[in-house]
Amino acid sequence: MKLLYTNENRLLVNNVLNLVENAGITISLKNEFAGGAAGLLVPHETWLEVWVEDTDYDRAKIIIQSLFNTEQQPGWVCNQCSEYNDASFDYCWNCQYSSDQ
Ligand SMILES: [Zn+2]
Repeated sequence: MKLLYTNENRLLVNNVLNLVENAGITISLKNEFAGGAAGLLVPHETWLEVWVEDTDYDRAKIIIQSLFNTEQQPGWVCNQCSEYNDASFDYCWNCQYSSDQ
């Protein structure tokens, strides 16, 4: 088995999981129930982990690549008010400062 993907954000992990499963690849989930014990564990040890068979790894990696190409664009921080903006925003949601300036 190989670790395909892990993230602090369980929604992202679930997206990956669904995508890979829909492609007919069998996955194993680790730390599915660790969230409740977060206070007792090192934070990254409570992250959901998606594991796949070695033979499926390359295919699964390509599948999730498409997800990250569209959704994992880095955002930007406004120079004027320091608010964080999603990559899809051309102007700061808070003060309308343009990211191109
Ligand atoms: Zn701003």
